[in-house]
Amino acid sequence: MNFEHSDKTLALIARLTAFMDEHVYPVEAERHAFTHDPANLWRPWPVLEDLKARAQAAGLWNLFLPHEYGRFSPGLGNLDYAPLAEIMGRVPWSSEIFNCSAPDTGNMEVLAKYGTPEQQERWLAPLLAGEIRSAYLMTEPRVASSDATNLETSIVRDGGDYVINGLKWWISGIMDPRCTLLVVMGKTDPAAPRHRQHSTIIVPRDTPGITITRNLTVFGSHNSPGGEAEVLLENVRVPAENLILGEGRGFEIAQGRLGPGRIHHCMRSIGQAQRALEIMARRVDGRIAFGRRLADQSSIRQDVARSYCEIEQARLLTLKAADQMDRYGARGARDLIAAIKIVAPRMAQEVADRAIQAHGGMGVSDDTPIASFFALNRFLRIADGPDEVHMSQLGKMKIEDYAAAAQRERGS
Ligand SMILES: Cc1cc2nc3c(=O)[nH]c(=O)nc-3n(C[C@H](O)[C@H](O)[C@H](O)COP(=O)(O)OP(=O)(O)OC[C@H]3O[C@@H](n4cnc5c(N)ncnc54)[C@H](O)[C@@H]3O)c2cc1C
Repeated sequence: MNFEHSDKTLALIARLTAFMDEHVYPVEAERHAFTHDPANLWRPWPVLEDLKARAQAAGLWNLFLPHEYGRFSPGLGNLDYAPLAEIMGRVPWSSEIFNCSAPDTGNMEVLAKYGTPEQQERWLAPLLAGEIRSAYLMTEPRVASSDATNLETSIVRDGGDYVINGLKWWISGIMDPRCTLLVVMGKTDPAAPRHRQHSTIIVPRDTPGITITRNLTVFGSHNSPGGEAEVLLENVRVPAENLILGEGRGFEIAQGRLGPGRIHHCMRSIGQAQRALEIMARRVDGRIAFGRRLADQSSIRQDVARSYCEIEQARLLTLKAADQMDRYGARGARDLIAAIKIVAPRMAQEVADRAIQAHGGMGVSDDTPIASFFALNRFLRIADGPDEVHMSQLGKMKIEDYAAAAQRERGS
């Protein structure tokens, strides 16, 4: 086992760290003030486009897209990308600067993997160039959407078109004025076997029949400029060639899309946990209560030690999952991807919780990013599949694996 990053990755780590130090950390407060000003709701922060141009010029662009995507990819693997995503994760909004932010990354992978040349030219090219943004419409308020086979939105063939009707919610990114592409999952054939009923279709954002019925807040905050929203689709008509991969392939596409997306979230969660721990250590080092530094209290030291252990454990597990993805694909690594999706957001939430406590009142304010890390990792335990669903699937997989091994032993 080799625990060193490759020379190529080490060089990128150095370049990305320098970029963050020079261009990102210094503007965190400015960006926060802009996006939290009610006058700027749903307005992109103007400085971001300049930062994107700088990142592109520095070769820090589309790093998430693995080499199997050939001409579209900058040539990294998941193992190479893991430490880079961790660095970006320390400032959660910064991944957009490098064109590495969800939901665009998942949509780019779908189009790169399954899109026709025409779909790739029309939608993938501007996404890869960072010229447009996109949203993924899967979740529905009327059904338990952690089971994607429940989705009810209808996609019905009508001559040379498909007509879409349904209600979606928790749609990230749709409020951003730069969002021009919707990737929608719905049902094309209710009579087909359960995993073949759904399809995925491209819907231009400006198609008639799309209404934002309300905005959703996460723990009371709008996630501006992209936001989360409830979206009504009423007789939304798009050409039949907008279907991705073919009828009945929606479930398969959702699985292919969410595997890499989940591990990217986990890599970033580790960055947030690491930064929360560093901020906590600096705070307790200088803060005096009852005549002693907080750093001298045993309970604080235990919190720091426990957090350090948990971050290291999660990081190693993430790197192992990334390595297995590079070797065997997302399907071959699905047990480890499920494991890391269970472990990393909860770990980051708990580390953030300890860091909040050590800061006293300051911990729940916006004077540090720790409270936002707590909120982000709390909802990540639901988004991209709730913890329980991953545990159920992982448990089933492992029981089958070990039972099959026992059967082989008995048979031999
Ligand atoms: C901030 C945020 C952003 C999001 N962005 C998007 C987006 O861009 N696009 C999109 O389509 N969706 C998005 N989602 C939706 C998210 O993916 C869903 O909320 C998630 O899949 C769960 O679906 P649900 O809300 O319908 O919960 P339900 O399916 O109703 O499940 C509710 C709860 O039931 C429990 N549960 C479910 N299954 C099991 C089981 N097998 N065993 C035990 N317990 C179980 C879990 O605790 C689960 O949390 C986002 C969500 C959030 C919070």
